[in-house]
Amino acid sequence: MKESLTKIPFSVTLKYTQLVQSLQNEGKDIVRLTAGEPDFNTPDQVKKAAVQALNDNFTKYTSAAGIRELREAVADMLGRQYNLDYKGTQIVVTNGGKQALYEALYAVTDEEDEVLVFTPDWVSYIPQIKMCKAVPVVVPALAENGFEPYEEDIREKITEKTRAVIVNSPNNPTGAVYSEDTLRGILKVAMENDLWIISDEIYANLVYDGAHRSIGSLDPTYKKVITINGFSKSHAMTGWRCGYCAAPIEVSKEIVKMQSHLSSNVNSITQMAALEALAVNTDYMRERFRERREIVTNGLQEIGIPFFFPKGAFYCFIDFSWLNEGRGAETGKVYKDDDELAMELIKEYGLALIPGSAFHAPWFMRLSYASSEKELEKALAILKRFKDEN
Ligand code: PLP
Repeated sequence: MKESLTKIPFSVTLKYTQLVQSLQNEGKDIVRLTAGEPDFNTPDQVKKAAVQALNDNFTKYTSAAGIRELREAVADMLGRQYNLDYKGTQIVVTNGGKQALYEALYAVTDEEDEVLVFTPDWVSYIPQIKMCKAVPVVVPALAENGFEPYEEDIREKITEKTRAVIVNSPNNPTGAVYSEDTLRGILKVAMENDLWIISDEIYANLVYDGAHRSIGSLDPTYKKVITINGFSKSHAMTGWRCGYCAAPIEVSKEIVKMQSHLSSNVNSITQMAALEALAVNTDYMRERFRERREIVTNGLQEIGIPFFFPKGAFYCFIDFSWLNEGRGAETGKVYKDDDELAMELIKEYGLALIPGSAFHAPWFMRLSYASSEKELEKALAILKRFKDEN
């Protein structure tokens, strides 16, 4: 058995999802706000395109990089929507954004190379870096700075082994959307040190105030930017498994080669569905998420539980550190850590959230508001009771 692999933990979010499912199977009533996926159905137009593809017997291998029409349509959309300059030949269609990220990391790092990751971080970055035999180097993005990294903090972590930096804005788990200044700061450090920027923009269409800014659009002369995106969050297509990376042609070629040996093309029917998805406007989903964000943030404010106001994605990062500020047992229950708190919330209160330590942000809890308004109201009622009792 590969020892380095055995040391990589199972995804914490999946662990919680499975625990809640088994409790629900036992008949427990639990409000589950752990999911990282939209609760909408895939748009009908997209489903129809998939049925059409099946009826047309579009069921054979395609090019490993994906069908030409989809790659070109993606490049076109990235140009129109995010001002990015990629051609169809630079796009690789992958099994979700997840595969695109792994392949990009694998392509640009050698063993022992260092990759900068801003924390709080999405659960798969560090395991993926380790699976590439590269070394994750954490740069805390502090709550005091809206969970955006300071340029000086990034600079401090640079060594001669630093090869790449992962950027994720809009951010999972915090809901932060990086300011242009922050993005320019990251770009400046990357340019000075010849780093690859791997920009995970899977929540690009879920920015609530203003437009999404893609770091690759800030200086078109800097070519070492790999942009990752996909259809999971933007079109409620998590199960279809379709994402992509957009990279300089020499990197795309290596990624295609790798993918040709690993998994070949993404499901042919999914690709036709994704092509159709690019013609579907999903603004209605964003507007519903915006309403839900209001419900959650207004509710938390009324209850008096602190949180970070989310500017994008569909997560609210709630601060429970008031339970940990040296209080004695007489003030209420004392929790060992946020994992214990998350378990108590599930088992005693019937509310499932993901503890912040899963994202290197202990005593925060991630609440996903990709859930019905009714469920969100139930969750707020539970949190009010929890606050009253603690
Ligand atoms: N990046 C981030 C930050 C995510 O939250 C997710 C999914 O949860 C992904 C990438 C990957 O999504 P998918 O592989 O479904 O495209």
